[in-house]
Amino acid sequence: MLLTITYTRQPAADLGYLLHKNPSRPQTFDLSHGQAHIFYPEVTDERCTVVLLLDIDPLDLARGKRGSAAGGLFDYVNDRPYVASSFLSVAIAKVFGTAMTGRCKDRPELAAQALPFQAGIVMLPCRGQTAMIRRLFEPLGYTVGAEDYELDEQFPQWGKSRYFNVTLTAAVRLQDLLRHLYVLIPVLDSDKHYWIGEAEIDKLLRHGEGWLAGHPERELIIGRYLKRKRNLVDQALNRLLPDVSAAEEEAGQLPEEEAEDKRSLNEERLGTVVAALKSAQAKRVLDLGCGEGKLLALLLRDKSFEQLAGVDVSCSALERAKSRLKLERLSDLQRQRITLLQGSLTYRDQRFAGYDAATLVEVIEHLDPHRLAALEQVLFRFAKPHTVIVSTPNKEYNARYGLTASDMRHRDHRFEWTRGEFAAWATRVAECYGYSVRFMPVGAADPEVGSPTQMGVFTLWN
Ligand code: SAH
Repeated sequence: MLLTITYTRQPAADLGYLLHKNPSRPQTFDLSHGQAHIFYPEVTDERCTVVLLLDIDPLDLARGKRGSAAGGLFDYVNDRPYVASSFLSVAIAKVFGTAMTGRCKDRPELAAQALPFQAGIVMLPCRGQTAMIRRLFEPLGYTVGAEDYELDEQFPQWGKSRYFNVTLTAAVRLQDLLRHLYVLIPVLDSDKHYWIGEAEIDKLLRHGEGWLAGHPERELIIGRYLKRKRNLVDQALNRLLPDVSAAEEEAGQLPEEEAEDKRSLNEERLGTVVAALKSAQAKRVLDLGCGEGKLLALLLRDKSFEQLAGVDVSCSALERAKSRLKLERLSDLQRQRITLLQGSLTYRDQRFAGYDAATLVEVIEHLDPHRLAALEQVLFRFAKPHTVIVSTPNKEYNARYGLTASDMRHRDHRFEWTRGEFAAWATRVAECYGYSVRFMPVGAADPEVGSPTQMGVFTLWN
């Protein structure tokens, strides 16, 4: 297992200071399943390369540690000693731990700067094509080079191997490079050699600080890093995502008068949702991305809604919902009408089944666009309520708020759609899953750009 890091700014030997590893002295570190060796094959003024060579003991992996009663981690014949995997991450943290924190006694100014680095990872496993490697590293600013192999040159019909030699080139801070590698190598590989528990969330968030929350693949990264253990993934997302509610986000930093307008837009929107639910004669309603529970509070007041559930990924939003709804003070009868659930809308969840209607009020724009496909499955394919109501900002209207074409209404929005874009998405989803959809503008319509909020009401064909 081989990782190289090349630094190309003069004097390149500064890499030794940055890594706290003297270029003229090879070093060896003991790890729980082998050894890590550090040496510099190239040290000139222009280029300096360090190698982290990981020597995993395959017998130890297969049989368990010498003298220990515990069995091995893997079968005898496996790729673990040879490929870049979670073992490499453990070695990076052990050997370059200080550099990962950004500390550098001798060259602190260098540690704080983005510098020209190239990392080479030999035998990086990646199911699927190199597209996945690009999806993970390119948003972080890397130029990705990947070399692939035939499984066997004599038998081209066997196809390509799932291992790649990858080079990543960027101007980054060294600590960021190391933290990106630490998190993303095991995301690309599918096996982790250690037990995944809550401590892994801390590690992920610590090493993901400053880049993971804004990464377009954050959910995929978190899902794979935590091996898709749903409660851990939910907890991680909850800790990572900012708390927002539609009313709050719209009022934002606006002058009092406009903020007032937007608060009333929020009320109008919720009123429209309640009316649409009533006209669909929904009795059991699931509010997805319920935030602090404003819609649920309205629904609770109306006896025609017999069973209500609110779902959010954010625990603190749910805490606020609990106090807004005064759950603790409700009579037993009322209390049985409502449930709050922590969960993510992009993971299939049995608890979402059995409702007449589901609402997503100003929620979809908080999901990364490519996660919408997961939401579609979770909601329209598996939960499959009779009615689905989705509201989202109409991007065309942003000009009336004095925003430019590239601005979004809130910093956590992953996208905002024009009326045409929303209609195209909604129509495709409706067709695909057997629903019809009609559109309802919310808020005073401008002749040119339409209403500030757009809403789609989906009804299942029976
Ligand atoms: N519907 C509420 C809140 C809208 S703000 C209202 O009208 O006031 C968006 C909400 O979606 C936030 O509370 C956020 O925590 C939640 N959210 C974002 N991504 C989510 C996900 N993947 N799963 C569940 N909830 C999510």
